[in-house]
Amino acid sequence: MKTVTLGRTGITVSKNGFGALPIQRITRDEAAKLLRKAYDGGITLFDTARAYSDSEEKIGYAMSDIRNHIYITTKTAAQNAEEFWKDLETSLTLLKTDHVDVYQFHNPSFCPKPGDESGLYEAALKAREQGKIRFIGITNHRLAVAHEAIDSGLYDTLQFPFCYLCSEKDVELVEDCKKNNIGFIAMKALSGGLITNSAAAYAFEGQYDNVLPIWGVQRENELDEFLSYMEHPPVMNDEIRALIEADRKQLYGSFCRGCGYCMPCPVGIEINNCARMSLLLRRSPSEGHLSPEGQAKMMKIKDCLHCNQCMSKCPYGLNTPELLQRNLKDYEEVLAGKVMTPTNF
Ligand code: SF4
Ligand code: SF4
Repeated sequence: MKTVTLGRTGITVSKNGFGALPIQRITRDEAAKLLRKAYDGGITLFDTARAYSDSEEKIGYAMSDIRNHIYITTKTAAQNAEEFWKDLETSLTLLKTDHVDVYQFHNPSFCPKPGDESGLYEAALKAREQGKIRFIGITNHRLAVAHEAIDSGLYDTLQFPFCYLCSEKDVELVEDCKKNNIGFIAMKALSGGLITNSAAAYAFEGQYDNVLPIWGVQRENELDEFLSYMEHPPVMNDEIRALIEADRKQLYGSFCRGCGYCMPCPVGIEINNCARMSLLLRRSPSEGHLSPEGQAKMMKIKDCLHCNQCMSKCPYGLNTPELLQRNLKDYEEVLAGKVMTPTNF
């Protein structure tokens, strides 16, 4: 079994972490079954967040009797010390535990540091002193904040999107974390549903020995795939390389990664999904995207003010308003009966 050590935390687990965002969408008992199956299959790190509605509660319900055999990482989006303590106490209660292994600041727009106005880092230090958290981590979608976190020396782990569609700049982050002995947790290793070949995704992550991918799992068959990689980890070979190359060609350039960094939008457009709808329709189950709720979200694009706020915030330099209009046009054509092929958008 391939294992990963999260830098200076010394936490060593199999190269499969459980991303517990999707278990919000299933019942408590379905979630419990999935979580226990993951554990029985050798997964011992479970990543959740205060922001993932009842995900923490489901983990607490399913795993409290084996708490000492697993690692729990969760997140707070607190903006000040008061919110930090409220979130931490809520998480501990829901997770049915007295400590969190890695407590992460959830995608802050700045890198919390001692002495800044937020008081967040001091609160984390105090929580660590009290034994309520063991390590301090940060998650982000912004390269600049991630680099600042690494350079600050204040963080034990960094969680960042990392998949085979990533750029050289993202690889640099992985290498910097390795040099600085900071654990690297890879989120969105399936690029939010755009990557459909999990073996290729695993083989890519497998090339970086300090990277721990956390797979967002909702269905048993998805979990089964990742569990099968425990014994037979897919490795990079010519076939997988060719597949990745083809995907990169199709998706590179003007594709939206769904990171959400450009949000919120003043008129409430769900940019991180709407700006990549053509790909989502073709590369993931399209039913939900075409439902009445899905249609209402897409039609909101018509309210776009063309204020360009989103474009100015996109770290990938995308012309977001134009991308939204292109995706809307294709979406309306699909609603009108256009037969989708992998590339006709
Ligand atoms: S340009 Fe349109 S989509 Fe972008 S932030 Fe402004 S209103 Fe929202
Ligand atoms: S438009 Fe850019 S910032 Fe917005 S979700 Fe897509 S990739 Fe992220």
